[in-house]
Amino acid sequence: MDSVKPLEPCGTTGAYQRHYLNGETPCDPCRAAKAVDKHTRYWKAKGGEPFANTAPRIITDHLETFGSMSIQELVWLIQRRHDIKDGTIHRAVHRMIADGRLASVKDIEGKLIVEVSDG
Ligand SMILES: [Zn+2]
Repeated sequence: MDSVKPLEPCGTTGAYQRHYLNGETPCDPCRAAKAVDKHTRYWKAKGGEPFANTAPRIITDHLETFGSMSIQELVWLIQRRHDIKDGTIHRAVHRMIADGRLASVKDIEGKLIVEVSDG
């Protein structure tokens, strides 16, 4: 009989490793736990903050600093300084338009111009 620590339940990075050691494919809760862990470490290593508010805050900062611009310009500007994927920025912009944090002021030749909402 081995004296073993109680097994970590699924949905933890410990359980994720156990799946691998047992030659199993990690289950969804364990994969999610691993992804959160990886993402959090990545941002901590960069001295940033993990998750949700990062993209919206950066988007707001850029629009407040540079004024209204197209999403394409916004993506270009943000990517010069931040390691954020196009899709992440696009999704965040559309979510922020949907919940009223950003206004889409006009559509010029298919380019949506966005700015920070007044209120
Ligand atoms: Zn699991």
